[in-house]
Amino acid sequence: MNFRSTRGDAAVSASRAIVKGLAPDGGLYVPESFPKIDNMEALLPLSYKERAKYVLSRYLTDFTAEEVDACVEAAYTAEKFGSEEIAPLKKLTDHAYVLELWHGPTCAFKDMALQILPHLLTTSMQKCGIRDEVCILVATSGDTGKAALEGFKDVDGTRVLVFFPRDGVSNIQKKQMVTQEGKNVGVMAVEGNFDDAQNGVKAIFTDEAYGAFLKENGISLSSANSINWGRLVPQIVYYVSAYLDLLKKGELGEGDTFNVVVPTGNFGNILAAYYAKKMGVPIHKLICASNANDVLTEFICTGVYNKKRNFHLTISPSMDILISSNLERFLYDLSGEDAEKVSDWMRDLKENGEYWIEDDMLEKMQEILWAGSCDDAETKETIRSVFEKHGYLADTHTAVALRVYDNYVEKTGDTRKTVIASTANPYKFGQSVLDALGESTDIDDFEILSALNKKSGLAIPEALSSLQNKASRFEKACAPEKMREAVKELLLL
Ligand SMILES: *Cc1c(COP(=O)(O)O)cnc(C)c1O
Repeated sequence: MNFRSTRGDAAVSASRAIVKGLAPDGGLYVPESFPKIDNMEALLPLSYKERAKYVLSRYLTDFTAEEVDACVEAAYTAEKFGSEEIAPLKKLTDHAYVLELWHGPTCAFKDMALQILPHLLTTSMQKCGIRDEVCILVATSGDTGKAALEGFKDVDGTRVLVFFPRDGVSNIQKKQMVTQEGKNVGVMAVEGNFDDAQNGVKAIFTDEAYGAFLKENGISLSSANSINWGRLVPQIVYYVSAYLDLLKKGELGEGDTFNVVVPTGNFGNILAAYYAKKMGVPIHKLICASNANDVLTEFICTGVYNKKRNFHLTISPSMDILISSNLERFLYDLSGEDAEKVSDWMRDLKENGEYWIEDDMLEKMQEILWAGSCDDAETKETIRSVFEKHGYLADTHTAVALRVYDNYVEKTGDTRKTVIASTANPYKFGQSVLDALGESTDIDDFEILSALNKKSGLAIPEALSSLQNKASRFEKACAPEKMREAVKELLLL
């Protein structure tokens, strides 16, 4: 199977798409077709790893079976994810299930993809005959940065540099990044918001002269952001696996459909669910949940994407995004793979800050997606009420999804079974979670972990409690327009 750019560039192999990250024309790589899973029954008894091997091999057709196996075996170990389950599904009510995607080493769902990406990438590089060192450049609103650092740490032939918005991540997130160990890692704060950081990284990727300069120094750039196909494809797996788990437990019968709710930022996670649907997983509605940065909700409800709005710093910072990059892939699919149209929309977005789609496309989109948003107060109220009613402690991002799901049920009366993606361990956003439970948070980060443990009884992940004794290695910040220089500095060029 080959991969095309959403803006029309020629198709390339899976390994080439993974090495490049972004297409030369600025578009994103998408598979030329979506393989159908026609033997769900056969996948039922399989472990998460075996299911992953099956899904990945359908897309990574230029990898040998041994190569896919090796990547999966290295990534999804019980040691790294706490158990063989990898992505456990917890029953919350008669019709709501929480899909916990945060049992990996950094306590957030980005691990699901970033534990395997380094292996997919280094394998792809070998297949493409590339001997350069690959430098992973990441703009992060928090979780991606740490997950990339942890995934690439000390992987031969790679370096990883992370830029995070100085005022857009939690204290714990920041601490996780600036204490990162490893000989091939670099971290820097950007004086701006996530979009500034992301635009800076994008500008570096499309700067040919700068790329040539790095190349002269034996370095080729790649992306670990969710625009990389190697990030997206592992995310399809857990939606397939969640469906199989529901079937296996008898919660769904053959032919039954279910909904999926995803707390959304860059549109990567929900897009993976859509791709699972295209492969034959019987998803009824994909429910896109946003925080106060409700640009996607507006788009899905009206067909107008308008980023000219106030940017809100919320208690669910990994969703504080005004430009959801992966939406481009969805639009490409929705428009019937019309690269010209996609290019026009993306140009309009860049030049005028907005674009809109035609009514027939809007209708088509609304058949697939439902959208809603909630503010910080509603998020906190949800954390508290879900904990009180069900004894389940949700992080702030998951709570946005839980709230929007409630709104969905209220508006539509649709009570079919629903899987809610839970994207972070509540301790990762402990301060906001503790505050939501009505406790004082006028204490330091590590006292917050203990207080939350006392209140909830949930075990503190060792990856977070051990941060306390780690020294900060990266203290610097730079202006968005100085990111090129910062990369040189971090690479010692
Ligand atoms: C990244 C992230 C999201 C948003 O996921 P997208 O794929 O960017 O839509 C939601 N919650 C958490 C905790 C995250 O880290």
